[in-house]
Amino acid sequence: MSFLDHKIPPVREHRHPETALAHGGTIAGHGRGGLCGVSPQASRSFTQGSICPLLPALGIMCSLPETVVILHGAVGCGTCAAGNNTNVRAGRASRGAPGSDAMWLSTALDEISVINGGDGRLEAAIVEADRELSPRVILAVSGCLPGVIGDDIDAAAARAQERVAARVLPVHCEGFRSRFMATAYDVVYHALGRHLLPDPGAGGERLPRTVNVMNVGSMGLADEDELGRLLAELGLEANFIPVFAHPGNLALATRAALSVSVCPTHDDYFLRHLEEKYGVPYVIKHMPIGLANTSSWLADVGQAMGLGREAKRLAGREEAEARRALGEFREAFRGKRAFLSAGEYRSLATASLLRELGFEISGIRSFHFDAFAEVEMEKLGRGEDFVFNVANVQPFEEANLLGRLRPDVFLGHWHGNSTAARMGIPSQVMYNGGYSYMGFRGAFDLARRLRRRLAHPQFYQRLGRYGRLPYRGEWFREEPFSHIRTTG
Ligand code: SF4
Repeated sequence: MSFLDHKIPPVREHRHPETALAHGGTIAGHGRGGLCGVSPQASRSFTQGSICPLLPALGIMCSLPETVVILHGAVGCGTCAAGNNTNVRAGRASRGAPGSDAMWLSTALDEISVINGGDGRLEAAIVEADRELSPRVILAVSGCLPGVIGDDIDAAAARAQERVAARVLPVHCEGFRSRFMATAYDVVYHALGRHLLPDPGAGGERLPRTVNVMNVGSMGLADEDELGRLLAELGLEANFIPVFAHPGNLALATRAALSVSVCPTHDDYFLRHLEEKYGVPYVIKHMPIGLANTSSWLADVGQAMGLGREAKRLAGREEAEARRALGEFREAFRGKRAFLSAGEYRSLATASLLRELGFEISGIRSFHFDAFAEVEMEKLGRGEDFVFNVANVQPFEEANLLGRLRPDVFLGHWHGNSTAARMGIPSQVMYNGGYSYMGFRGAFDLARRLRRRLAHPQFYQRLGRYGRLPYRGEWFREEPFSHIRTTG
C-alpha cells in the first residue's frame, strides 16, 4: 500500500528515522558510527526557534498558477506567505505573467471556532474563493489549530467540492506533527499526487524524450533555463515541476520517460510515487551546483536515458570551458575562507562549488540532516577538515561559531544573513530566484557575485562597527555546541 493511499501523509521522523536536527562536530567525523556521526536523538537544552513546515510548503503552493491557497488555522499561521509573495511575483513575471500575486486566504479561526469546530468556516471559504476568484485548484491547508481541535478538513473539502468548479485539495500541514521542515515537501507532493494526477489507466502516450526535473522553491527561471539547456543538448525536453508548474504539467509528468531530482531530500516521496504508480523511473543523487556535481547529474540522466556517452562528452566539454572561464577568479579567492548556512543539500553542494573556485571552507550549518547527505559529505570529507553543524536556524549558535571562525564571506539564505552581516562579515545570498546558481553558468555567475562582494566589504564593515547582537559576552566564551545533548 502506498503512502498516497492514506489521507494524511507520514512525517519525516517516521519515513526517515535517521533525520536529525542537532549536531556539532567536524566534517572529519564523516562515517564515524554511520550517518556521518550525526545522531537523530540529539537535541538542544536551549533553542531559539524552529521552522514550521508551512514556510516551505507555502513557498511551493503559492507559486502554483490558477490556484488559491486557503489557510485553515489561526490568523498568524502562514503570514510568511506575505514574504513569499515577492518570490511569487518575480517568478511569475519572469515566466510571462507579470503583476500576478499569490492568492491566499485565511479562515482566521478564533476562540468560538475552537469550541464549535471550524469545518463549516473552511467549507464556506472554499465556496467563496471559488465564486470570487474562479481558480482551477483550491488548496485547503490545515495548520495546527484544526489538527488540535479535530476538524476533518478532508470531509469539509469533499462537501465543498460538490458546490464548486475548482478542484479542492486538502493539505495536512499541521506544524506540530513534525520537527522537520522537510516534511513540508512530502505534504505538498502528497496532496498533488493524490488529487491532481490522472488514473494510471487514463491513457496518453509515453513521452520518450521528456524528463521531469523536480524544481525547488529556491531555484529561479535562470537555473531552469540552464538545466533545460543542458538537457536540450542531449535532445531531451525538461518538464519542470512542481514549483510554478501549471496543473496540466503535473499530469504530463506521469507520461515522462524519466524524473530527475535537483535536491534529493526534497523529492524522494514524489519520485517513488511516479515510479510505483506510473512506471516513470527516476534519478536521485546529485544537486547540479558546482562543476563536478553538474557533470555527475548530467551523466546520471544520460545513463538512465541510454545517452551515457553523449552526456559524458557534453559534460566534459562544458566543464572544461567553465574551468577555463573561472580561471580569472582564482587569484581573488585564493586562501579566502567561506562559511555556509542553508538547507542540507544546498549548503553541502555549494561548499563543493566554493572549493572548486579556490575557497577554503571554514564551516557549514545545515538546517537538518538525513541519509541523502552522505553522498555530499563523502565528497567534502576528502578535503581539509571544517566545522559541521546541524541547526534548525539557532542564530545564537551561529553567532558564537562566526565569532570564532571569522570567515571572509558568509553564504546564507536571504532571510538568514543578518547575524553575519551585523558581525561585519560580507554576506552573499545563497539563493535568490532572480539569480543563477545551478549548472555551469550558475558557477560562473556566483563567482562573479562573490568577487564583487569580497572587493567591496565597506558596507559590512560599517554594519559590524555599529550593529549589535542580543548576546552577552559570556556566551561568546562558551563552547558553541554546549547546548547540544547527544543522549536520549
Ligand atoms: S501551523 Fe502550527 S507551528 Fe505552523 S505557524 Fe501555524 S500554529 Fe505555528
